[in-house]
Formats: sequence, structure tokens, C-alpha cells
Amino acid sequence: MYSGFFEVFSIGIGPSSSHTMGPMRAAARFVQLLREEGLLTRVASVRAVLYGSLALTGEGHGTPGAIAYGLMELDAEKMERPYTLTDTLLLGGTKEIPFSPAKHVTAEKDITLPEHPNALRFFAEAEDGSILREALFLSIGGGAVRMQGEESAAVASADNVPYDFNSCRELMALCENAKLSIAQLIRRNEATLHSTPELAARTKLIARVMRSAIDRGISTPGILPGELHMPRRAPQIYARLEERFRHNETDALTIIDWINLWAFAVAEENAAGGRVVTAPTMGSAGVLPAVLRYFERYGCKDSPYSAEMGTEIMLLTASAICSLYRANASISGAEVGCQGEIGVACSMAAAGLTAAMGGSNAQVENAAEIAMEHNLGLTCDPVCGLVQVPCIERNAIGAVKAVNAARLAMRGNGSHYVSLDSVIATMYETGRHLHPSYRETSLAGLAKNAFTC
Ligand code: SF4
Repeated sequence: MYSGFFEVFSIGIGPSSSHTMGPMRAAARFVQLLREEGLLTRVASVRAVLYGSLALTGEGHGTPGAIAYGLMELDAEKMERPYTLTDTLLLGGTKEIPFSPAKHVTAEKDITLPEHPNALRFFAEAEDGSILREALFLSIGGGAVRMQGEESAAVASADNVPYDFNSCRELMALCENAKLSIAQLIRRNEATLHSTPELAARTKLIARVMRSAIDRGISTPGILPGELHMPRRAPQIYARLEERFRHNETDALTIIDWINLWAFAVAEENAAGGRVVTAPTMGSAGVLPAVLRYFERYGCKDSPYSAEMGTEIMLLTASAICSLYRANASISGAEVGCQGEIGVACSMAAAGLTAAMGGSNAQVENAAEIAMEHNLGLTCDPVCGLVQVPCIERNAIGAVKAVNAARLAMRGNGSHYVSLDSVIATMYETGRHLHPSYRETSLAGLAKNAFTC
């Protein structure tokens, strides 16, 4: 099932697409529901109950504040940083109600709903305390939300594009028959969903937000929010690299330091609640920008495309790969562990870079497959429920691994033993077999053994 480019890449404030952006969107959808049903003016208070992974790690992931932003219908794309909240808010931007995240958002830590590990229920109450409306939302990954019983946005996209695909095998066959690259096929699909200038503007905006997250991360020192009191490392890494450059120090692996730096910069911005792009999620938002900058800085010299064209090809190709994971597995750490976040980001970036370097469709599949194959089994165990340890370093490792996967694929002719479809199926199966405590609950792994929070 085809997931559109605009669905795959969303812009918002961190630190988590499923725990920050998703709940913010769910809250805004709830307000919209109240408005459509003529209830908005009668609402005296709103509360939300979190379940499953949202309940266990929502506090560290900024879920309660994100719900407040959603109830105010703030535009996530325009926010640079978190807002300071008081004990009231303007519901739907019009009606003042009392709302304090600590009081009006509660967590049912022992309950996981069968519908999804990331679920939240909203209640709108009248002055006399009676419930005017309630609704259950599922935060299904990458910032996407679904109200209980509703079909996903991907279904709507899939119905309207000329080239819908459910597997990489189908995608390859469609490309082969139409004599198109993966990026060209996605461009044709998107042309039926959006105008050409709209797609061009969106692609440029996505790349711009990725670049600006790198630049802000490099130039913003300080301590990240949360009880780990982690210093931001990107500015130090950058200073060290500049110093080495000034002193003409040579090191054959300097490129790796740069890739690490760019990934750190974005991941730290995300951890601080800054503005990033889901690629495919916010926890993994540093991988693709780091690989994109690698292409712009180093890769495009050997590419048949200009930096601008290569960037567009990279993003369109990465979007197609993400669509395959969304259709056949998951991009939610709460469902399949970090395989679904850093693993998918690595796979998307490897595929995108290979395409931007002029690789064939078979080489693109090979790169995406290599990248995921060596992320299989990756657990999600964020320390103190914060998107910091192991997440920030993991973005850097994922970015370097993506470049390596692309290079391995480019050295071959595209033929490979393991198909991307079989790796995606394996990733999903492995994720479902992971004990729930390794799926974004902070109950095991590093979260249990590395620190006492
Ligand atoms: S460990 Fe991975 S999946 Fe879990 S929060 Fe960190 S980046 Fe996301």
C-alpha cells in the first residue's frame, strides 16, 4: 500500500514522532471532532489517558505537552521550539479551559490496549462533569494517527496513484515495465496527489528543514532536557574538526567524523524538542540528513546528478522504501523496536544515497536490504524514557552504516541473495518476537542496566 511523500516526511518538534507529534495530531483531531459535532463551546475541560508505551515513556518523550499544543491547534510545522505552558489553554484557539499537562494527562502504565501499543483516549467534559465526547486514537508511527475504526491515510493515497505497490517485488516490476527509476515512479505517483510546484516546494522544504536542523545542532551548546543532564556534543565535535582542519591534520577517516557530527546535530536538536523531519521518525531523524549532507559535500562529485537533483532523487527514493516498511512491517519502536526507527532510517538513507549516486533500481534495493539486514534485532530501550541514550549515538551509527551499505551496493551489479521483501518480513517477525519490554517501554535493556532514573 502506497504511502505518499507528504505522509512519509512530516515536519514537527521533537523528540518523538509517535509520542510527541502523533499525540499532538490526535489532540488536534479531537478538537476538530468537537467542532464538527457542535460541542466545542460546551466543553469545560479535556483530559487524556495514555496507554502502553505512551504511558510508560510519554513523560520523557514530551507527550503531555504535545497534547496541550494539539488542543490549542498549534501548527507543528511552524514551531521551532516547545512553548511554555501555563495552567490554562485556548481550546481550538478560542475557548479558555483549565489544562495542566501533569493533571489532565494521566498514564495507565499497566494497560496496553489490543489495538496498538501507542494508544490515547480523550474525554471532553461539560461544566457538570458529564462526558460530552470521548475518542480513542492510535499513534501508529512516524507521527501518523488513526482514530479507532478508521482506515489509514495510506489507503486514500493508494487509491489515487497510478503505481500502487505492496512489495518491493511489485515496485521493481512496475519500474521495469514503465522503464522508470524508483524516484521517477514516485514523482508520477505524487503528480496525481499534488501539483508539480507543490511537490517541488515540499521537497525543497524538507531538505531545508533537515539542513537547518544540522546547522542549529552544530551551533547550539548546552544541556539536553531531562534527568540525564546530557551535554550536547555536536558543537564540541565540530570545534575539534575545525581545529584539525586549521592545523592541516590528516586522518583518512575524517569523513566518518563529519557524518557522525551531522547525525548528532539533528538528533540533539530533536532531543531538545527542536524542529526536525520524520525520516521515518523523529527518534531517527538524524540519519537521512547526515547522509544527505554527505552526498552534498562528498558524494555528488562522483554522481551523474547535480546536488539539487541528487537531493530530490534521494528523498523520493527514500520515501518509496519507507512506504514498503509502513505497508509490510512498522516504523514504530513500540511495535518492532529500534529496527523500525534507526533500522528503517538506515535502509531509506542507503537506498536514497545509492539512487542519488546513479545506482540502478536493483542496486537501490540491494542497499536498502543490506542496511536493514544489519539492524535486525535492534531493541528500543531509551534510558529514562528520553530520546537520548542510546538514540543520539545510534543516529550516527545508522548514518555511517547507510553510507557503507550504499557503497557495498554500488560496488556490485545489483544482484543479491536476500530480497528487500524478505528482510522486511524478517524485521517485522523479529520485532513481534521481541519481548514487549524491549519495545519502547524503558523497562529493560540499557534503560534497566545503564542508569537509575
Ligand atoms: S532506541 Fe531507537 S526506537 Fe527507541 S526511542 Fe531511541 S531511536 Fe527511537
